[in-house]
Amino acid sequence: MRSIAIIGAGIIGLSSAIALLDRGFTVTVFDADPDGRAASWGNAGHIAVEQVEPLASPAALKSVPRRLFSMGGALALPLSMAARWLPFATRLVAASTPARFAAGTSALTPLVAAAMPAWQDLVRTIGDEGLLRRDGHLVLWESAATAAAGRAKWARTDIGTARIEDADDALLRRLGGITRSVGGAIRFTGSGQIADLDRLAVALKAALVARGGRIVSAAATLAPDGDDIRLVGHDADLVLVTAGVRSRALLEPLGYRVPMIAERGYHIRAPIHASLNVGADRWPADMPPLVFEDRSMIVTRYADTVQAASFVELGDPDAPADPRKWQRLEKHIADLGLPIAGPYSRWMGSRPTLPDYLPAIGRSSTSANLFYAFGHQHLGLTLAPITAQIVAALVTETAPPVPISAFSLSRFATKGSSQ
Ligand SMILES: Cc1cc2nc3c(=O)[nH]c(=O)nc-3n(C[C@H](O)[C@H](O)[C@H](O)COP(=O)(O)OP(=O)(O)OC[C@H]3O[C@@H](n4cnc5c(N)ncnc54)[C@H](O)[C@@H]3O)c2cc1C
Repeated sequence: MRSIAIIGAGIIGLSSAIALLDRGFTVTVFDADPDGRAASWGNAGHIAVEQVEPLASPAALKSVPRRLFSMGGALALPLSMAARWLPFATRLVAASTPARFAAGTSALTPLVAAAMPAWQDLVRTIGDEGLLRRDGHLVLWESAATAAAGRAKWARTDIGTARIEDADDALLRRLGGITRSVGGAIRFTGSGQIADLDRLAVALKAALVARGGRIVSAAATLAPDGDDIRLVGHDADLVLVTAGVRSRALLEPLGYRVPMIAERGYHIRAPIHASLNVGADRWPADMPPLVFEDRSMIVTRYADTVQAASFVELGDPDAPADPRKWQRLEKHIADLGLPIAGPYSRWMGSRPTLPDYLPAIGRSSTSANLFYAFGHQHLGLTLAPITAQIVAALVTETAPPVPISAFSLSRFATKGSSQ
C-alpha cells in the first residue's frame, strides 16, 4: 500500500485525505493548528458556485479607490505591510488584462461548476448530508439606487451554473423584518452553505480516523531527497502540500516560486441561546447567507452562532489583527438594525491568494513524489471536494475530472527556476 504525507488539515487537506484513503493509500496528515484558527474554520460558509470570474479583472482594479478601507470600503492595504503587497499588486495588475481575465474565467468555470456535485458526494461519503444546505443565498442593497447598480452589475457578470431571481414581496417583507434598510434584493439559486463549520471539521476528522488515517499535531518541514522531496522525520512515498497561506514558506526554500499573499479577512460571531433572547436568538434558523453588498459583508447562520464577515486586508498572516475591522463589523450590524447583539467573539484569518486568483493544484515537474493543492483564495470551502477529486486523480495517474493545466505552479516559474 502506498503512503502519503499531507501537510495541512484545513478543508483542502482533510478532503484530500479522505479521497486518498478511499483509494487505498496510507494517509498521515500533519497540522500545526490545535485551536482550529485556520481560514477553513472561520470563513463565511458559502458554497459560491456563482464566482466563476477571477478577482484579477479590469473591473476589480478600477474599483480599488472606492473599495479602500479609508473610504469606508472593505479593501485594506496597510502601509506597514507594503513590502508584502506591493510585489503582489504588480503581479495582480499584470494578471488583470482582459485576455488573462478571459482565460482565468475559462479555467475556473468547469472547476466551479463541479463544486456542488463534489460537495454532495463528500457529505454522502462522510455520512452527514445535513452539512450541506442547497438553499442559495441572498444579495441585498440598502437603497433603490445601489440596488439598480448592483442588479446591472450582476446582469453582466458570468455566474456559471447559478441563477438569479428578483426577490418577491413575501421575501422582501421577511428581509424587512431583519434589517431596517432594504432598497432591493435578489436571490441566487444553485449556490449553498455549510450548515456548521465546527461540525464539518469534526465529521471530516472522524471520517479520516474511521478509514485508518492519522492526524499528527506538529509543524512539518520539507527537504530535498535526491530527485524526490521528503517530509523531515517521517517516511512516506508521496507528499501533498495543502498548507494554505503557509504553502509558500514550505515550498520556496525548495526552489518553487509561489507568489502568494495572505488576504486577511475578519469575522465576529454572536451566540444563539435559543430562548434567552440575547446574542442572535432572533436570527431565523432557515435564512440562507445574506450578502449586504453595499458594505461587502456576509452574514451566515451556523448551528449556534450568527457570523458577520468582511474585509480583504493584504499582508502578513502573522501581523497582529486590526481591531478597527471588528469595530466596523459591529457598526454595520448596528446601522442595519440586524437582530444580533454582542458579546461577540472575534476572528481574523488568511485566504491563500495567488495574483491571478486561480488555485495551484498539480504535481511537481521536478520531484515526481510531490503534489500540491493551495491558493484557493475566496473559494477554498467551495472548491475543497472537487480539489480532492483532482488530487486523487493526479496521485493515481488517472484523468482529472476537469481540465487543470491552468492551475500548475509552473505558470509562475521564471527562467532558471525549478518546477
Ligand atoms: C473571512 C473569510 C471568509 C471566507 N468565506 C468563504 C466562503 O464563504 N466560501 C469559500 O469557498 N471560501 C471562503 N473563504 C476562503 C476559504 O476559507 C479558504 O480558501 C480555505 O479555507 C483555504 O483552505 P486551506 O485548507 O487551503 O487552508 P487553511 O484553512 O489555511 O488550512 C491550512 C492548514 O495547514 C496548516 N499548516 C500550515 N503550515 C503547516 C506546516 N508547516 N505543518 C503542518 N501544518 C501546517 C495550518 O495549521 C492550517 O490548519 C473565506 C476566507 C475568509 C478569511
